[in-house]
Amino acid sequence: MSSKKHQGDFTWKNVPILKYKEEGTHFKDITRQILFDGSDDLKGQLRYFEIAPNGHSTLERHEHVHVVMIIQGSGKALVGTEVIALEKFDVVHIQPQTWHQFQATNNEPFGFLCLVATERDKPERPGKAELDELRKNPAVAQFIKT
Ligand code: MN
Repeated sequence: MSSKKHQGDFTWKNVPILKYKEEGTHFKDITRQILFDGSDDLKGQLRYFEIAPNGHSTLERHEHVHVVMIIQGSGKALVGTEVIALEKFDVVHIQPQTWHQFQATNNEPFGFLCLVATERDKPERPGKAELDELRKNPAVAQFIKT
């Protein structure tokens, strides 16, 4: 189908609301909708993620990149070694092998579009050494959830 009708409240007609990931406890209260699932001439996916208040995505890094645009609410993200505040229509580029985690910190749903390549490597989560390194920055230490 070449169009997907927004039906209000950040849902789209005939687009199922999926679990963020199939399993794990390293994320909380987050859903996923696939708005574009790639084609022969555009090998990318456009997803909409929504994090409920106080929820968060996985702390991870990988070779593939993300381009994210916030379209609902506000929140914060770890990007590399920085914790940044994000508001509606801000755009974030997560570069290769950059630690990242999104959190709905502001008592409201935090929703964003995320563009990603269809073929991509598996995310890596931090081990003890990586966590120790990340936690050298007090703002990061306070922020991250594992
Ligand atoms: Mn990621």
